[in-house]
Amino acid sequence: MIESIRCPNCGAIAERHHLSYLGQVKTQCEECDYLLVMCTRSGHVLESYAPGLPSPRSLQPIATRLASLPQRQVNNSRTRDIAALRV
Ligand SMILES: [Zn+2]
Repeated sequence: MIESIRCPNCGAIAERHHLSYLGQVKTQCEECDYLLVMCTRSGHVLESYAPGLPSPRSLQPIATRLASLPQRQVNNSRTRDIAALRV
């Protein structure tokens, strides 16, 4: 039995497989590779994998901060233009 659910990781349509013969429920999402295998008898999580979606986005502000530093150094290069005029 396959049940369509919302992925708890990214919110996309994910599949929940009810493996009754194994006593397990497997939830997987093709959008973000989310995986959760849970034992229905004990309620224990047998296998889980949740890729961190926010991590690539959090790298962008760091990249812009690093990019802003060289721009300030470019502004300081006016002294070089003054030196060039003196020559
Ligand atoms: Zn997902």
